[in-house]
Amino acid sequence: MLRVIFLGTGGTLPTPDRNPSAIFINREGEMMLFDCGEGTQRQMMRAKTGMKLGSIFITHFHADHFLGIPGLIQTMSFNGREEPLDIYGPVWTRQFVNLLIQLGYYKLGFVINAHELEDGDTIDKGDYSIKAVGSDHGIPSLGYVLEEKKRVGRFNREKAIELGVPVGRLFSKLQNGEPVIINGKTILPSQVVGESRPGRKIVYSGDTRPCKNIEKESAGADLLIHDSTLAEELKDWALETKHSTSKEAAQLAKNAMVKQLILTHISSRYSEKRELLIRDAKSVFENVRLAEELMEVEIPLSDT
Ligand SMILES: [Zn+2]
Ligand SMILES: [Zn+2]
Repeated sequence: MLRVIFLGTGGTLPTPDRNPSAIFINREGEMMLFDCGEGTQRQMMRAKTGMKLGSIFITHFHADHFLGIPGLIQTMSFNGREEPLDIYGPVWTRQFVNLLIQLGYYKLGFVINAHELEDGDTIDKGDYSIKAVGSDHGIPSLGYVLEEKKRVGRFNREKAIELGVPVGRLFSKLQNGEPVIINGKTILPSQVVGESRPGRKIVYSGDTRPCKNIEKESAGADLLIHDSTLAEELKDWALETKHSTSKEAAQLAKNAMVKQLILTHISSRYSEKRELLIRDAKSVFENVRLAEELMEVEIPLSDT
């Protein structure tokens, strides 16, 4: 299972209908959060995600992307959490975590490990990885790429039986890439196991101007979640504040040939004019939609 839950989809300021940035990902039961704007823990409660987060990835230190962390960790501590929590982010993450653990009079019941990342740093999580990608927001800022490793190819059961392999242990041997010998004849895994299949890839841009680095890393992604603070009518303002318009996000999605684009970090000025953002984006890239609060998106495995 690879599920994305949008907990906060608004621009810089919280509004009655959008919280500041936070994206929750559940991959096979492993929970992680990308950005944690204020109010994120209440959104987690609404979405019934539970609090068993392993890691938080911060894109940059603008308040709308991290102010939810102090309250969240105090609640976790209050709930008796003992497992360590990893907080990843650009330069200043260590200082931030030091401040966090000195804030107020409470004593944390668990350890927070701070990890500062730079463009290109990759965290290997076994069957998937998370890569930090430098973005363009005027301050140290990162996007993140969650990418699964290739999966073994499909096992051709009928073919194996036809070749005389008895059902059972030898099947898994072949599946694990080991040859087996049947009646003096060697059967190779390549005879019964298909081409390896791609894993899934999700990219989150964080706040950024459209940037080549993010575009390159988004190539063929199953899902790109991109800054879309403004519509094309306010492109000058996007340039000045180092954000993207929905059309620019769509152009990047098209260039990178992603399968699906979800626009987020939506400015409050579009709460009544959401169709403006969508119209601009659709003029360039068809498979696009606006992120909504508590929206859930499941990314299926593909067979090719
Ligand atoms: Zn922001
Ligand atoms: Zn920002």
